[in-house]
Amino acid sequence: MKPKILLALLVALEACMGAQKREEAVELGKNTLSTLSEEELLARRARYADVTITVAEDAISKEDRAVMADLLRAAQVMTRIFWKQVSEEGLALRETLANEVKKANGPRKAYLAALLDYLDLNAGPWDRLDSDAPFLGSTKKPLGATFYPPDLTREAFNAYVAAHPSEREALESPFTVVRYKEGGGRVLHAVPYSEVYRADLEEAASLLRSAAKKTRDPALARFLTARADAFLSNDYFDSDVAWLDLGSAPADVASAIEVTIGPYEVYEDGLMNLKAAFEAFVAVRDEASSRELAAVAQMLDELEANLPLDDRHKNFSRGKASPIVVVNLVFAGGDAAKGVQTTAYNLPNDEKVRSVKGSKKVMLKNVGEAKFNKSLVPIAKTVMDQKLMPFIVFDAYFNHVLMHEVSHGLGPGIITAPDGSKRTVNQALRETYSHLEECKADVLGVWNTLYLIRKGFFPADLEQRLEATFLAGIFRSVRFGVEEAHGKANIIEFNYLKRQGAFTYDPATGRFGVVHERFEPAIRALAHDLLVIQAEGDYTGAQKFLDEYGRMPPEVSWALGRLAHVPVDIRPHYELGEKLAHEHHDAK
Ligand code: ZN
Repeated sequence: MKPKILLALLVALEACMGAQKREEAVELGKNTLSTLSEEELLARRARYADVTITVAEDAISKEDRAVMADLLRAAQVMTRIFWKQVSEEGLALRETLANEVKKANGPRKAYLAALLDYLDLNAGPWDRLDSDAPFLGSTKKPLGATFYPPDLTREAFNAYVAAHPSEREALESPFTVVRYKEGGGRVLHAVPYSEVYRADLEEAASLLRSAAKKTRDPALARFLTARADAFLSNDYFDSDVAWLDLGSAPADVASAIEVTIGPYEVYEDGLMNLKAAFEAFVAVRDEASSRELAAVAQMLDELEANLPLDDRHKNFSRGKASPIVVVNLVFAGGDAAKGVQTTAYNLPNDEKVRSVKGSKKVMLKNVGEAKFNKSLVPIAKTVMDQKLMPFIVFDAYFNHVLMHEVSHGLGPGIITAPDGSKRTVNQALRETYSHLEECKADVLGVWNTLYLIRKGFFPADLEQRLEATFLAGIFRSVRFGVEEAHGKANIIEFNYLKRQGAFTYDPATGRFGVVHERFEPAIRALAHDLLVIQAEGDYTGAQKFLDEYGRMPPEVSWALGRLAHVPVDIRPHYELGEKLAHEHHDAK
């Protein structure tokens, strides 16, 4: 056993024993036992800051309200299916615990209610911020959740598929579960979601059809009807295509609803990353942000021309990046409502749909704002020069997020080697690519914003806000490590800009600041260096660059050490969503 793992086990064991000493363990039925003391439970829960997620109600038409009431109930069905995907016992455990809460009183009631809340937050008895360790019961989470027989290993699955090529497609499908055939012998077979979750999917399908009847928006009705069909046929292609057309209806019948519902992401399948988890996002489009993005999209050639890069490397034929839709979330369900919250997603995942029709990126503005308020602001209060606090504001942050996305579509894409052969930047830069590409998008996000400020497209006072918010955002990104692409990109930005004199550090206070005069030239220099590495496909140069700028400096690690009090993420309470669910219930 590696010493590090052993140490982790000892720490975990000690924590468990400590918990049992401090607090009598809670017994539920025979085997379900929580070893978390009330103190520990509340400390874990405090990693998520409670927030209200809602939208301005006057922005929603009466018609959309009625449609949404059905969609909310369909989203609740997605939650139910997702719980079944996560754990065989999750729903039964939840029911038992909810009954215990009803029966209990006094401090025990409060404790059990907190436990129930934590169970809901994790969509099952395993702690998603604690490597899926059980906090209720002692059952270990199978790597493949309930998508596979719990004892099936990755090697056994791969060996079986290799030996049975005609069954590969069904076994590897995102929309089947894998089971042993009856009669022993460990023979695998695939069962479609449309059979496994039949009753739930029939209920969801009828809710989507009911919603489709209530809208005059033909694109929305088409998606909802096609998705209802897909739930029952297990064929998601047509409905994925229809989803890309949401928002295309003429203004007089257009709905503001942007809905994503069905089996999508494969992260819950820790065994093979093949099986899609059910989820739902019910949201309304943010018209102001969408108009601004559409205007920026008209200026892509101009932005490409303005890149700090030799003209021969500029690229005016990269094709359109996937469209971006900005929305405000009303309600989420299933995979989308558990643990750490999503602020953006790019769908569909099906490569066949992508090659015919492309994909689109949906950004959840109000979720981003909640995270900004609950994590970026307290981080800035702890580590930034306090004179900068008035300039650390959400509009500057979100503007940069949008310009980051736009900037992925600028700069070198397919490059020509000295021998005339063509390859993508990704192929040329190999494992260094995603780090440098995220860094490029961040830095060009700033560079392009500065350009649009000079042009009068954005207001002049955005500049100071951009500088301060950009620096504060770096601490949020590197907080969870610098090995992942976004964390690495941010530490490169910090080191480069600090060396160029654009960022300052005061060892007496431990706080960081910005030097306005140095900021734009430093951003220009960094953008230039990154773009040249990409344009030349310079793998060795990329490695050298990462080596030089990719390390965490001591003053930043010290600053991060002071952020223990800042929540890791948010726990949304969907104000309008709950209201709509009640309205519908009362009307029945
Ligand atoms: Zn990015």
